[in-house]
Formats: sequence, structure tokens, C-alpha cells
Amino acid sequence: MSNDKKNPASAAALPALPSNFLRAIIENDLAAGTHTRDGMPNVITRFPPEPNGYLHVGHAKSICLNFGLARDYNGRCHLRFDDTNPEKEEQEYVDTIIDSVKWLGFDWNWQGPNGNEVHLHHASDYFDQLYTMAEYLINEGYAYVDSQSAEEMAANRGNFNTPGVNSPFRNRPREESLQMFRDMKAGKYKDGEHILRAKISEDAMSSPNMNMRDPAIYRIRHEHHVRTGDDWCIYPMYDYTHPISDALENITHSICTLEFQDHRPFYDWLLETLSKGGFFTLPVPKQYEFSRLNLTYVITSKRKLRQLVEDGVVTGWDDPRMPTIVGLRRRGYTPESIQLFAERIGVTKSDGWIDMSTLEGCVREDLDPKAPRATAVLRPLKLIVENFPADASEPCSCPVHPHHPEMGVRNFTFTRELWIEADDFMETPTKGYFRYTPPVGDQPGSRVRLRHGFVTECTGYDKDDNGNVIAVRVKYFEDSKSGTPGSDNYKVKGNIHWVSAADCLEAEVRLYDRLFTDPQPDAGGKDFMAALNPNALETVTAYLEPGMKDAAGDQRFQFERHGYFVADRVDSQPGKPVFNRIVTLKDSWTAK
Ligand code: ATP
Ligand code: MG
Repeated sequence: MSNDKKNPASAAALPALPSNFLRAIIENDLAAGTHTRDGMPNVITRFPPEPNGYLHVGHAKSICLNFGLARDYNGRCHLRFDDTNPEKEEQEYVDTIIDSVKWLGFDWNWQGPNGNEVHLHHASDYFDQLYTMAEYLINEGYAYVDSQSAEEMAANRGNFNTPGVNSPFRNRPREESLQMFRDMKAGKYKDGEHILRAKISEDAMSSPNMNMRDPAIYRIRHEHHVRTGDDWCIYPMYDYTHPISDALENITHSICTLEFQDHRPFYDWLLETLSKGGFFTLPVPKQYEFSRLNLTYVITSKRKLRQLVEDGVVTGWDDPRMPTIVGLRRRGYTPESIQLFAERIGVTKSDGWIDMSTLEGCVREDLDPKAPRATAVLRPLKLIVENFPADASEPCSCPVHPHHPEMGVRNFTFTRELWIEADDFMETPTKGYFRYTPPVGDQPGSRVRLRHGFVTECTGYDKDDNGNVIAVRVKYFEDSKSGTPGSDNYKVKGNIHWVSAADCLEAEVRLYDRLFTDPQPDAGGKDFMAALNPNALETVTAYLEPGMKDAAGDQRFQFERHGYFVADRVDSQPGKPVFNRIVTLKDSWTAK
């Protein structure tokens, strides 16, 4: 439980917050006053994406965690682009990341003593400072310019079992390294000709931690950078840039995924060393690791997601089958459902798999109380009400939401010709089937209530020349209309949905399903392309109740008996919505 008494509002918004090891660390720090500094909150976190792709559901976990902790402890969270790889980074990615974080419900503004502060940062904002600190490290004997080839460097690094070998350039005089580093910056060398490496200790090349073996901190890249243009031809490495950016931004808790655990000693060494040089005041940020999200039936590697896009397996990064945030959004997931998911899965330090049904359960749980209900016939079969006049129509209505009368009513008409689901009729019924079945001998056909309409009795059916059932015939009972006195004298076991053939809306409905049939499509180096679900998308022409023509992009509904659907934000036109299935009503998934 959070014991943050200073912030009753956020505690009320999120009752009974489950504790986790990160909350415990933060609460200890709050109690000890570890990060008490003037004009700053006690908790400052950050989300540091590299703008080289679209964010996915794994990033969503990290966003909800970092921004969520800042929210819950009255702190702030920075969005920082880790833009140190000019060749892979693009503005398109920066824009979509900003959009995605906002859509998830977070922002980087902070109301400080001097008003609003905007904490949207870029590592490239710090290129000058990063460079100055590198010169400091060289001057202090903590860094040197190495002139080995990439192959020599790799060979001399050793491996887990073999210590590394010192570079022949390791004892290059400081003045010489400094001059060469300046020449690297001035563009006098080609890519890869030299590199700046840290020298953590005399025997660092035999450290059991490979990340401590003279890690590279600057490399030459003659590349145009999205933000700094051609100002630089040397770029700092991630492991060097990240701790410094954290410290410059006064981050208190630098939270990352477990693969960075072995990078932590360098993180700590670098900040401690630079603090001695007067670049930072204590306390410097501390790094904490949690386990990344692995979700079944999903891949969360940017590289593999890009392959799905580039190979045309999906229509784009925002294809509703993609686990990207833009894909989940277009699929119809709500920000609230993703936040709920992040809370529910919690954070730990142990690797595991979360079942896709957990995410699906969260969107059902979020939408059930708020999604308007609607009727959609996805696989239509004609129903003919033989004793209802062809030119008549009977107005019917029902609540928009069964538990929220304030949401109003839906209106539609009952006519002689209706559409029902094809599987609501069975010529030869199986045991326990309570929907339409035809008369057999003296036995009348089954009685079924047409929801919010009338009770009907099956009188027969029509087939085409190929033996396919093309229409079901029924008679209706005039005194059985739902909501009228005496209507419940009719006891029927079947209760189905329908729309009027005379006034329904024809619409494209996309029945999305999981993208893979294998719960761990890329585990153990498996070929994930071989596990694609051929039924991940089925497009049907459905008949919907007439009011649905006004559905606007991003509006979500529960199509009764089917599941939750959203009007596609890209393809819907005014008066002509296209719907995506978000999730079925029940968790009954099996690979077809
Ligand atoms: P890359 O291989 O391009 O570095 P990445 O997925 O690590 O890919 P980043 O942009 O570096 O992408 O990630 C930003 C943040 O999101 C990092 O702090 C990272 O730890 C976190 N993150 C990435 N994937 C997951 C995941 N599956 N679960 C939780 N957090 C994740
Ligand atoms: Mg990364």
C-alpha cells in the first residue's frame, strides 16, 4: 500500500495500489529524504525511447510504470528521446511516440514553483555537455582514444570465460588522446578509424563484467542528425549518454528493463566520477531494473515488427493486429484498459509470460460499463415473418445500456423481413439447441424471442438449388411484444438478436483475431512468420441497427452476443462507418 499521505487525491484515484519493489524503494527514499532538493519533486522518473520505431505494448508497460509512479508520488516524469543513433532515427518516430504517450493519458508538464515546466527532452540537447565531460575524462586519465580496428577490438575484448587484452593504445598520453578526440570532432577521420573508450581501472579489461572492459563512449559517424544536422560527426554511445542525461535532468529513480542490470556498474562509476569533477551534485540518480513484458501471441521486438510491416503481412504500423500502441488504439483498445493492464500485471524482477487473455480481459472490463450496446448481424440469414404485413412496420426500442438508463434508448423497427445470424437456425438441431428449428411431423417449430421485439415460431425454411438455407419462415404473436403487458406469458428458451431488412445499415466489419497461433511465436529463435494466424482477419458485410450510421471513428460499442467493436478511425466515412472487432465477449480463444 502506498503511504503517501501528502497526496490524498492520487491515492483516492487509485485505491488499494498494489505494492511492488519499486514503490518500496521510493517510499524508503521519501521517508529518508534521499532526494529532497529545492524546487524539485522527490520523485523524478523518465521514459527514454529511442526514436527508431513505433512504441509497442511493452513500452506501454514502461510508460505506465514511469509516469504512473510520478503521478502517484506527486513527482514528474520526463519524456526523453534517446537520439544518439542518427542513421536509424526519424522525425516520424518522434511524432508517433509523443502521440502515443499523450494518448495513453500522460504528459510531461510539471507545475513547479516557477510555473509550468515542460519536460520533453532529447539526449541531443546535451551533446555539448556530453562532449565537455568526455574531455574531462580524458584529462583525468579515465578515457583514451583507441585506434584498433573494430575486429581487433572485438577480439581483444575477450568473452565471459576469457579476460580481455589491453589495447596497445591504452596508455596513449592524455594530451595525445585529447588532441585526437578534438580531431575526431573536427571531422579529420573516417567512420571507425578511432573511438573513445573509458578506462575505469587499470585492470578493467579483465573485469568479469564485459560492460566494464573499456566501454566505447564516443564513435565517429559522418551522419546527418534529425535535430543537430551536421554539427557533429562524433556521437556518444547509449551507455555513456543515458546516465549523464539522467543526472542532468535530476532524475531520482532511473527505471529500466533487466537487460541493463550489467550496465549498472558503469552507470554508477560514470556518475560518481563526473560528480568528483563537479559536473553533478549528489545524490546522483540510481538505476533500478524490472522484467520486461512478454505477452503471449505477441512479438515485441521492433525489428520483427518492422519486418511484418515491410513484408506486407499487415497494412502498416497501425494495423489493428499489431501490438503497437497505434495498432492497439486503432483496434479499439482504450488508454484506460492499457493502464489497467499495466497495474494488473505489476512489476517484478523475474521473467515470465503474461497471457494475452489478461490484456483482453482488461478491455472488456473497461468497456462493459461504458460501451453503448448495438445490434449487428454478422453472418446474415433472411427471416420472413409470414403473418406480418409487407408494408407495415412496428417501432421498437431498448436501452442503450442495460445498467445506465441515463444513456437513453435505441429505436428500430420490426418489419416482415428481418436479418438474423445464420447459426440461429438449425435444420436438424443438436441436443440443447434452443434457437430456430423447423417443424417436424406434428411437432411445431421452435419458439424464439426476437429480442426487444416479438415471440415467433418457426414455420419452415427455404433452400436454394444447392441445398443452402436461404430463408427461415416464422409467424409472430402479436401480443408478445417485449415490454407490453402479458408479453412474459410466452416462455421461450431462445432469445436472439435481429435487424430489419428494410431499414438496417450495411457495413464492413473486420473480425480481428490474434496475429499468431503460437503463444510464443519467436521464443528460442523460432521463425515467427511460420506461426502467423491465417484467420487473424476476416472481413464480413454485416447488417446493423439503423442508428449505427452515425457512429464516428473511435466510437466503441458492444455488439450484443458478439463482443466489443470500434468504428475504424481511418476508414470510417460520415454515414458509412467501418467496424473493427476489439475482442469477443468471452474468453474462449482457441487457434482455428
Ligand atoms: P531497441 O532494441 O531499439 O533499443 P527497445 O524496445 O529497448 O528497442 P527503446 O526505445 O530503447 O526500445 O525502449 C524505451 C524503453 O522501453 C526502455 O526503457 C526499455 O527498457 C523499455 N521497454 C522496451 N521494451 C519493453 C518491454 N517489452 N517491456 C517493458 N519495457 C520495455
Ligand atoms: Mg533500448
